[in-house]
Amino acid sequence: MEKSPCSLDVEFADRIAALLAPPSPESKKEYFDDIIRRQNHGIKVKDGKYGKGVYANVDFREEELILKDQMLVASQHISNKVDCLVCSYCFRFIGSVELQIGRKLYLQALGLSVKHECGIETLANDSEDDFQTDSMDVESSNQNHNSEGSSSSSRKENAIPEGVLASLMNRNLILPYSDQFSLPPVFSCNGGCGEEHYCSELCAEADWESFHSLLCTGNKSDPSQREALVKFMEHANKTNDIFILAAKVISSTILRYKRLKESHLRREVQYAAVNGNCASCFSLLLEAWKPVSMGFKKRWWECVALPDDVDLGDEVSFRMEIRDLAHKSLQLLKEAIFVQECAPLFSLDVYGHIIGMFELNNLDLVVASPVEDYFIYIDDLPSSLKTEAERLTRPFLDALGDDYSVCCEGSAFFPLQSCMNHSCCPNAKAFKREEDKDGQATIIALRPIAKGEEVTISYIDEELPYEERQALLVDYGFECRCPRCLEEEGP
Ligand SMILES: [Zn+2]
Ligand SMILES: [Zn+2]
Ligand SMILES: [Zn+2]
Repeated sequence: MEKSPCSLDVEFADRIAALLAPPSPESKKEYFDDIIRRQNHGIKVKDGKYGKGVYANVDFREEELILKDQMLVASQHISNKVDCLVCSYCFRFIGSVELQIGRKLYLQALGLSVKHECGIETLANDSEDDFQTDSMDVESSNQNHNSEGSSSSSRKENAIPEGVLASLMNRNLILPYSDQFSLPPVFSCNGGCGEEHYCSELCAEADWESFHSLLCTGNKSDPSQREALVKFMEHANKTNDIFILAAKVISSTILRYKRLKESHLRREVQYAAVNGNCASCFSLLLEAWKPVSMGFKKRWWECVALPDDVDLGDEVSFRMEIRDLAHKSLQLLKEAIFVQECAPLFSLDVYGHIIGMFELNNLDLVVASPVEDYFIYIDDLPSSLKTEAERLTRPFLDALGDDYSVCCEGSAFFPLQSCMNHSCCPNAKAFKREEDKDGQATIIALRPIAKGEEVTISYIDEELPYEERQALLVDYGFECRCPRCLEEEGP
């Protein structure tokens, strides 16, 4: 591949190498022990046969919760924003069932509807959640799904008058039994962008502190910066929304760095007096970067699977195109939020590794929709009550059509779950229980797991035959040697 088009790659080569060096075993241990301690889990992360893995530190019963994993960074797919209004920090559904339904129908009527990628989405929340969307992920990384032109075909004949939708959204119109499905109220971003909404003041503040203060396009940010940010977002929305996740990683690293520096300077006041650009600044940046350094493996353009319609002979140029796309996105982001002290973070090499981290760790964010639960509840009412309720709810269900059950979907990076190795006969799975209403990953034991045993999940549909499983796992960069594969491998 020809040399990098990014000048920072050359200028900061040493620092980039330090950022991209694999973390030492001690620092890995310290990092994961700390997360596990804080979240009180009966597991351990340690190096095993195939790199790091998650091991039971206590005995687990069948169906017992093994862990809930708080995401490091996550975002809802842009195409999903029409369907579901969720908290931008914890991904809980917000507002009310009425607001969810009214808003979606209203936005669809405006022609904002985005065609769903495939049936997988609507199926996703009633089957076992949810690593199976690999084919979709690969596709969406290569090109975008934003099929803007598709709205006319999806417009429903049984459209609801706008006035009715408005009263649904402002809850002048209350649907029967919706109080059984109450949701937290909507808090909008204090920065005034109108883009992000939250379930609470707490989530709004946490998001602002951790990610959003650098990425908010509201009127509190500087106008030229705002313009640049809007350009970056538009590019990401048009090409690949994985760039928005990458921007969140960079933004959160800068914000962590600033907090570390502040407390460092408070401790060593004289440093600040001598030189704002203190000698240990880079070590603070390394510290701020630490959570990310635990996750990445390869550059995006090197690890992205070659789409079927790309000829093997065109592989090099395909990978170059992907790199150029990332570079374009990075340049736009740089114009918006560049910070000199954190310059190495804005190198193409680092950007490629951040995006690659999402590519290789197939970690989907899924939260089941209360709208689906609501209509199921209505359908299950005793017939005497059901007839009366349906008189009001039926038109909305008809207008929503098959889309009524669309869940919140996005991408996320879960620090512990991403350490779990694959097995085609896993002893655990990601599964959202009734009470799991936010975006955290939930891992449940499929059978009893003894203390000391490795906890494994399946990255793919493990029901598939041997050859198909192996072919799918190539995208994750390994050949499966699980007991089942060894047995089925044949002579
Ligand atoms: Zn929240
Ligand atoms: Zn904002
Ligand atoms: Zn296997």
